Amino acid sequence: MQTLVFATNNPHKAREVEQILGEGFQVKTLRDIGCLEEIEETESTLEGNALLKARYVKERYGFDCFSEDTGLEVEALDGAPGVHTARYAGEEKNPEANIALLLKNLGDRQNRHARFRTVIALVMNGREVLLEGICEGGIAHSKQGAGGFGYDPVFIPEGYDRTFAELGDDVKNRISHRAKATEKLVAYLGKMMGH
Ligand code: IMP
Repeated sequence: MQTLVFATNNPHKAREVEQILGEGFQVKTLRDIGCLEEIEETESTLEGNALLKARYVKERYGFDCFSEDTGLEVEALDGAPGVHTARYAGEEKNPEANIALLLKNLGDRQNRHARFRTVIALVMNGREVLLEGICEGGIAHSKQGAGGFGYDPVFIPEGYDRTFAELGDDVKNRISHRAKATEKLVAYLGKMMGH
């Protein structure tokens, strides 16, 4: 049994990955290993921040670890909010304020193309691996739908005419950036274990 830490405080995310991985892996959260301090994300890219968190756990706690970082990249805003996605409108990380600022900055621009990008950094057996999941789409002109979280009410994935908040978890969990990055992680770990 190989223990892997998922550098998150969300036990649901950890159980989800553990269930997909099946026997052979035990997935622990930061709380499970007694890491209660906040790991500051000081890098200027998603890759940098994901690696920073995974390395922190490896160096201070000795566990192999993976971590994820997600950003919303809007083409007409030169890739913003990007690495600042969570704190776009301020340190409170308020999703309502973030969406309001995004709609204001985008105004009535024609080009509303955007993508969610998740980067997973894995530090394992002395190696560092980066895995990426992308969901292409666009930004709606106003909020639509009450489901989901974060920017879901204004993100319309490519091939659909409704927002993530309207489409619901079943659709989202099949096509999302996070789902794609997690699939790559699972495939990579499966290969490492020889099955
Ligand atoms: P984190 O890296 O998971 O903390 O996410 C960074 C920011 O992206 C937060 O503001 C989240 O609300 C937002 N975010 C990440 N994934 C999603 C998503 O699937 N839908 C909407 N917003 C998201």
